[in-house]
Amino acid sequence: MSYLANNYNRRKISFKRGKGSFLYSSKGKRYLDFVQGIAVNSLGHSNSHLNKALSYQSKRVWHVSNAFQIPEGEKLAKRLTKKTFADSVIFQNSGAEATEAAIKVARKYFYSKKKPYKNRILCVKNSFHGRTLAAIHASGSKKMIEGFGPKVPGFDHFIYGDHQSLKKSITKKTAAIMIEPVLGEGGIKVIPKWCLKGLRRICDQKKILLICDEVQCGVGRSGKFFAFEYSGIKPDIVPIAKGIGGGFPIGAVLMTKKVASGMTPGTHGSTFGGNPLAMKIGNAVLDKIMNKNFLDNVKNISNYYLKELNKIKKEYPEIIKEVRGLGLLIGLQLHNSQNKFIKLLEQNKLLTIRAAENVVRILPPLNVKKSEIDISIKIIKKVCKNYK
Ligand SMILES: *Cc1c(COP(=O)(O)O)cnc(C)c1O
Repeated sequence: MSYLANNYNRRKISFKRGKGSFLYSSKGKRYLDFVQGIAVNSLGHSNSHLNKALSYQSKRVWHVSNAFQIPEGEKLAKRLTKKTFADSVIFQNSGAEATEAAIKVARKYFYSKKKPYKNRILCVKNSFHGRTLAAIHASGSKKMIEGFGPKVPGFDHFIYGDHQSLKKSITKKTAAIMIEPVLGEGGIKVIPKWCLKGLRRICDQKKILLICDEVQCGVGRSGKFFAFEYSGIKPDIVPIAKGIGGGFPIGAVLMTKKVASGMTPGTHGSTFGGNPLAMKIGNAVLDKIMNKNFLDNVKNISNYYLKELNKIKKEYPEIIKEVRGLGLLIGLQLHNSQNKFIKLLEQNKLLTIRAAENVVRILPPLNVKKSEIDISIKIIKKVCKNYK
């Protein structure tokens, strides 16, 4: 019996140790971990560079209040803005907090511009922005909202791919469109470049803000630092989380100078957000990821992996419907429910996780080796071969 509440459907497996792409179970079995905490452990398990940073900072100072200067945070913010669209950063502890902070920034911007009526956020129906009260209503998923009423107001939704529904939903009360450049939980759906460009154009025409939720697809996961970079657009606000901490909980919202102008002292805060320990680790993650060779390698491995997966699809078109993804955010869409397939992969010592639309989500660490990709290909082939 468990003393944990029953809000997860947990698999009956636990781990005592991890190294790189591998996890070792309590029963001594080795698994190739292509979940990596759901795109969190960007450098794999127990990375020596991150271990050093953690150990170094743990002996100096873990936590001080944001009432004081935090040099490690200044450094991380500078690095996150220097090569990106952003001019400033607010640190949080998780993805949901980061998306909520993004919403607050958008609303506060129009409030400070004497347009307080512009406060509604337009989101994709059945997207994913986290599990806090506002975030579930931003997601617009009936399943996530059920039982958690009353409804949090201020969110409108449009159907992904439906331009009429998008245009109709923009009113003079709309403050921002919030969108995941790759719908992660929604089934690894990559929003086409022209579509993101179109959204940017609409936002410019209507003088509203564009929020790109890069909590899952950001920080190198896509093969570029941000997934939206593929389309050449510049958003106004970008929440990030998962990959930036390499396993340590960090969230952040990046924004332009223009929209940051509303966030004056006292308007927003977080007790833990941006503490020295977290910031030291975030910087250590960037030491590796903010490196041209590193991201080129993600792209190369991704090209290879997608090609191999498409070969498997070609061999088993009755099982695999589509191979989707960008960088190392990969989905195998099956014709039928993916649960059994994921279980079979696990029995063959490959860990993956589901996403919507019958998708098997595959999330290797960003520093995965080609030989490890090859192990996974072998296992996926074997499972396909023996599949009912
Ligand atoms: C995971 C995720 C979130 C929520 O992150 P948490 O850390 O679980 O709160 C928000 N947006 C997207 C796109 C995500 O994938």
